[in-house]
Amino acid sequence: MKKHLFAIFVLISFTVSAQKMNSNKKALVASVENHKTELIKISDSIWAAAETAFEEHKSSKILADYAEKNGMKVERGVAGIPTAFTATYGSGKPVISILGEFDALPGISQKAQPTKEPLKEGAAGHGCGHNLFGAASLGAAIATKELMENGKLKGTIKFLGTPSEEKYFAKIWMVREGLWDDVDVNLSWHPSAKTEADVQSSLALVDFKVEFYGQAAHASGDPWNGRSASDALELYTTGINYYREHIKPTVRIHYHIQDGGQVVNVVPDYSRLWVRVRDTKRSGMMPVYEQVKKMAEGAAIMANVDYKISLISGIYEVLVNRSGGEIMQKNLELLGPLTYTAEETAFGKKIQESTGKPQVGMDSQIRPLEETKEHPGGGSTDVGDVSWNVPNINLGVTVAPKDTPWHSWAVVACGGMSIGHKGMVHAAKALGMTAVDLFENPKLVQKVKAEYIERKGSEKYEPIIPDGPPPLNGI
Ligand SMILES: [Zn+2]
Repeated sequence: MKKHLFAIFVLISFTVSAQKMNSNKKALVASVENHKTELIKISDSIWAAAETAFEEHKSSKILADYAEKNGMKVERGVAGIPTAFTATYGSGKPVISILGEFDALPGISQKAQPTKEPLKEGAAGHGCGHNLFGAASLGAAIATKELMENGKLKGTIKFLGTPSEEKYFAKIWMVREGLWDDVDVNLSWHPSAKTEADVQSSLALVDFKVEFYGQAAHASGDPWNGRSASDALELYTTGINYYREHIKPTVRIHYHIQDGGQVVNVVPDYSRLWVRVRDTKRSGMMPVYEQVKKMAEGAAIMANVDYKISLISGIYEVLVNRSGGEIMQKNLELLGPLTYTAEETAFGKKIQESTGKPQVGMDSQIRPLEETKEHPGGGSTDVGDVSWNVPNINLGVTVAPKDTPWHSWAVVACGGMSIGHKGMVHAAKALGMTAVDLFENPKLVQKVKAEYIERKGSEKYEPIIPDGPPPLNGI
């Protein structure tokens, strides 16, 4: 009898939970399902093209063309960036935007198989899942647009195609261009190894180039005539590495030696590094940045060479919005966890075996909304700059097995097959459903905005970029 009652209770709660998805959300999910085959094709084409920072001409065109074909007003080449675009539909308030990335990472080409083997030796690969990112976000925007078209929602939906997230952070220039100025709330997501309404921040970051200029000479014949730019480079990096002992544990300093001289028998007259400083907050990062810049002068004095520092770009930490996270969380709960076939689970376990991780398979369970950590660790994203200009709601969706090394061949592999596709479609639905909530309920928009204003406080947004256009041709 007790068992029987329990079964009735389960049935009732299931019915109640199913009823919670209102007719607009049901229509949105159906619309994403309608576009599913095309979205997977788009994602796979971007995956195969695997274009890196500012070179994403095919990928950007594939997304922009699909937006246009579906009746959105497309503006290409915005903010002086040929591969950046916007796609808009509707009019008036609220304006809800969804951003989509689509750039790949160099050198990690990989076939859609669970053991390491490049698709094309030395080529780029989607090791951050941005092929899925762009496709899902556009899918959500188009599905929302279809509800507007049918008179179910009022306002404006705006998709922003944001290139070069992995290198120069194009969103900073897009923010400077004012592309989010009319937006009430922005939605974003990121491919992940777990599914969650993401309420964690990211690290602020600053990128700059250091160049040393010396005097060339024969390395053995007349070295006394030489002033070595590579000596300066070595002294500089040594200084940075000693400095690590005296920085807070939240700070990260990286450098990439781009030019250390050409041959062994010449005293190099030129050297160059790309240096990056990060911390939990921009305010903690800036004093470290100033110190690391001073060290370049010190190294130049010691090696008796000249030096030059050029700012490349920098990004803010993400300004979290928990009110927005709560909306997203409810939609993830409505959708339920992703499920996988035996073949997909086996694929995931094989990836884990190949990367030396416990073979536990996929993780798409729905967790309660996490506490926002004071020091989140992890990486950086130019979504940070967007989040200081407009309230931002973030989402993470499983597109790879648990513990998958990110920015690696393993993510490329999953992003080119059904595990990635499932995550992409799921993300499109969760983003679209959250947009539906915001269009339907002005009070939610107000709540998200109020939290944004409170968290931002008196801090004025100051972009960390030099004047002029983005470095489209590299640095
Ligand atoms: Zn990424």
